[in-house]
This record gives sequence, C-alpha cells and structure tokens, in this order.
Amino acid sequence: MTNLPPPGDHPPSSTTDTQADPAVTPTNPAGDAITDPTGSADPVIDTTNDRLDDGINRCPKCGSTDIQLRASAGMLVCLFCRHQWAEARLDETIENGDLTTLTGTTIGSGAADIDASVDVLTTMKCAGCGAEVVVNTAENMSARCHWCRHVLTVNEQIPNGAVPDAVLPFKITHEDAVSRIEKFAGKRRLFADRAFVSEFTPQNIVGVYMPYMVVDSNASADIAGQGEIQTRKYTRGSGDDEETVYDADRYDVRRHVDFTVDDLTVESSAERANFDSSANTNNIINTILPFDTENAVKWNASYLTGYTSEKRDQDVAHLVPVVEDQLLSIARSQVESSVKQYDRGVRWEREHLDVHGTRWLSMYLPVWLYSYYHESGGKGMVHYIAVNGRTGEVMGSVPVSHKRLLAAAVSVGGVIDAGVIALMVATS
Ligand SMILES: [Zn+2]
Ligand SMILES: [Zn+2]
Repeated sequence: MTNLPPPGDHPPSSTTDTQADPAVTPTNPAGDAITDPTGSADPVIDTTNDRLDDGINRCPKCGSTDIQLRASAGMLVCLFCRHQWAEARLDETIENGDLTTLTGTTIGSGAADIDASVDVLTTMKCAGCGAEVVVNTAENMSARCHWCRHVLTVNEQIPNGAVPDAVLPFKITHEDAVSRIEKFAGKRRLFADRAFVSEFTPQNIVGVYMPYMVVDSNASADIAGQGEIQTRKYTRGSGDDEETVYDADRYDVRRHVDFTVDDLTVESSAERANFDSSANTNNIINTILPFDTENAVKWNASYLTGYTSEKRDQDVAHLVPVVEDQLLSIARSQVESSVKQYDRGVRWEREHLDVHGTRWLSMYLPVWLYSYYHESGGKGMVHYIAVNGRTGEVMGSVPVSHKRLLAAAVSVGGVIDAGVIALMVATS
C-alpha cells in the first residue's frame, strides 16, 4: 500500500503498512450503555401556562389587562397600578433530567406540528363586553377590544405555530438598540453609500420576536479515515533534481464519541432560513447568536406587546436534517483533539451519526432590526442591521459606495481595516 500525499508534497519513498491506530484516547468514558430509542409515540412536554387559561392576562394585583414588558427590568409591568412580575423560567417548570439518558423524541406542546387548516387569524371573545376581536397571529399576539378597551392576548396554544413553548423577553431597550446601531453604522459611514447615510433613521428599528427551535440532544458518532505520522524527512538527488521526501506511517483511524448538546438553536421560519444573499441579508440574524435561552420564560403574550413577532412555519420533521448536520460538525470538532499525533493530518472518509434522543422546544427570541432597501445597478437588495435583544451584539450590512471605498484605500496607502473588508464581502 502506498501513501497518498496531500497535494503539493513529494511522494514518500518508503512503503508503509496500514497499522492499527496507536491512539487509545477514550472518547467514551461512560461506556456504550445507550440503547436505541423506543418506537413509541413521541412524548409531549405540556408547556401551557395554566394561569392564563381564561385567555386573558390580567395584572395579579388589580386585574387590569394593560400590561407590557419593561425590558430594562425584565419584568411585566401593569400600566394601571405599576405592579411588576415575571413568568417562571421554562427550565424551572419542566423536568430537565440528565441529557445522557435522553431517548426518543420529546416535543414541547408549543412545538407540535402545525395544522395547515388553522388560520393565522384568531377570533377571541372579549371577556369584558362579549364582542368578537380578531388577531392576526402572523404578526401580533394581542389586540385591544375597540368597544371596551380590554387588551386580549393569545395565550392558548393554537396549532398554527404562533404560540411557542417559551419566550425570551427583550432586555435591550429601544433607546439602547438605537445607539448601538448608530455606532455600528457610524464606524462604516466613511465608505457607506451616500443615500444610505442621508436616509439613515435608526429610530425606525423594530423589535421582532423571531421563531426558533431550541434542541437538546444525546448522540453518538463514529468517524473513520486515515491519518499519517511522519517518520523521516530527507532530500534525494542533487542540484535541480534535488527533492524533499517524507516517509510516513499510515493508520486507519476510527473514533467513537458520545456527546450531549444543550440548547442548539435553529431557525423555524423557512423564509428566514432561506439565505438568498443576492436579495437580502437574512443570515445576519444568525450571526448574532447565541441567546441565553436558559432564561426563557413560560409563554405570556404580554411580553410581545409593543413588539412584532414572526410565526413559526417549520415542524420538527423539517428541522431534523439541519440539527443532524450540526450534530455531525460538533462530533468532528470533538474528536479533533484526539488526533493531534497525526502530524501529517487525518482524512476523514466515513461518518455515522446515531441520535439517541432529542428534545424540542419552540421559542421566540428577541431581535432589534433595522432594514434598508438599497438599489444599485437596477438590482434591489434589503440590508439589515440586527441587534441581539439580550446581549446587544450587533451585526449587519451597510450598502457600500465602491467609489468612496477605493478613494479611501488610495488615500491611506491601501490599508483598509478588516471590518471594512468583511463589509465588502457581506455586500458584494
Ligand atoms: Zn395592576
Ligand atoms: Zn370588549
């Protein structure tokens, strides 16, 4: 058997035998005790907020329905009596258990499959006066009764994907988000398109709750390939014919890894997951991950008052391939440290993932969005600047004037900072 050198290397002169993998790195300290998931019906975690089962969110102190989130305090506030309170963290109200024992598929009641026959328009009967009020759950989760001024909130888990298991409330205020976006755009002002600069109105940012699935997993992976360890390096021939030769031993490398992943976060809106970079900069939203999803609270539509929301349109089954793909890359990175002795590298050829168990919860996560429609050369493109509503992390794209960028590059001797180059890539 001969070695297969990486491109550009001279072939080694010696023949090598395929040997047993010398590494005895135990990546499976717990042993192989995991069994296959059972074929029984998927268990469901009931995440309904019992306190709101009359369909109305009232202030626990005075009974008023005028309630909204006070982001700076992370609390719901009654606009009538100023009483403040918060819903319990979802993590506290459901059994979390040890992820290494997670088997099968467990789904939160708010992450259940979407029933296509259920309309996004929900009609609610006002408990104040009996009138019927319609809420468009594609964007809003509450409406004010125009007869008696009661605020009606959608708290029942209707099977149209609009009510998730949990919500992670905004923590970054509108004012704070505006100043972060100003700062972000300010740094790029020099090279930004002039129309963008003159029309820039960061006050117009919108607070949006975006739909995500937050997934816990218990998995194993088997990865196999060939690794090489250099045994000798020397030169052969002389003058123009001189060449460097490497001898290496080649090994069959196999790794097995058992691992658990807590709170993997994936988009559950097909439109947002569609990263058509020629027409929009949707992928911006994923660059402001991660969110502190462990602090998500039980559903209460009042957290959304004053914000807009985007309804989930993807079921668990649609997102399984996305999650499995991410689990495989996690597995690959987990074995990396155990193959360091292969100084000439390892070429992975086969990989196999065994998912023993997953648990899915749907959540609304908070994002401040500034959008700007820019037309250049007859082609329109929507640019976004997004602020993580929890951490304040900002990411976005700004339309660039290539003329100004070029002029600046020339005037400073061709030195452009890395941030600007990233921006050019993001907008090209
Ligand atoms: Zn009150
Ligand atoms: Zn009413």
